[in-house]
Amino acid sequence: MQIKVVSNVLKANEDMAEVNRKLLQAKGIKVLNIISSPGAGKTTILERTIDALKNEIPLAVIEGDLMTSKDAERIEQHGVPVVQINTRGGCHLDANMVNKAMAELPLDEIKLLIIENVGNLVCPSTFDLGEDVKIVVLSVPEGDDKPLKYPTTFKKADVCLLNKIDFLFYSNFNLDSFYKDIESLNDEMQVFAISAWKEEGMEEWYNYLRKLVG
Ligand code: MG
Ligand code: ZN
Repeated sequence: MQIKVVSNVLKANEDMAEVNRKLLQAKGIKVLNIISSPGAGKTTILERTIDALKNEIPLAVIEGDLMTSKDAERIEQHGVPVVQINTRGGCHLDANMVNKAMAELPLDEIKLLIIENVGNLVCPSTFDLGEDVKIVVLSVPEGDDKPLKYPTTFKKADVCLLNKIDFLFYSNFNLDSFYKDIESLNDEMQVFAISAWKEEGMEEWYNYLRKLVG
């Protein structure tokens, strides 16, 4: 019985994700779903990315958060449309929430929609939002063991941003085993080693987005 309930929830989510995907595709909008644990640096990555690309690529942001609008307020400072979704404690975004948030955005004016998911490396990867690209952010202070500890997220993601590489010197994070584990989980994964804060390695990430949007 329990299993049936869960699969119904996921099926309903997949149907709504398809609705989102069709609508966004029809408007020529590419969509990123950014997933990480709390504190990996998603919002800082977004702030840098917005500043670098907003004059080339019209974009908007959907911010998922448990309780606050702190991240949306940060994004707003960068002069792009942003909608906050508060999940009221819910640990992931679903396609229905994103559908409602999309209605608040100027979809005819943008080419890129960036969704910052709730900070959680577990269930967000199970809920398709209608995105083109699923992105997992791992930061160096979290440790190189995380891909094998959260394999579903790393298997499902298309891109991994390894953030805070400026901490490599201060930690025992083993880059070789990180790359080996990523390869063993998902050999199609594209990895960008960056420090959003220090603006290292960001140009390749920007070029990836330029190419994606076309
Ligand atoms: Mg954030
Ligand atoms: Zn969840």
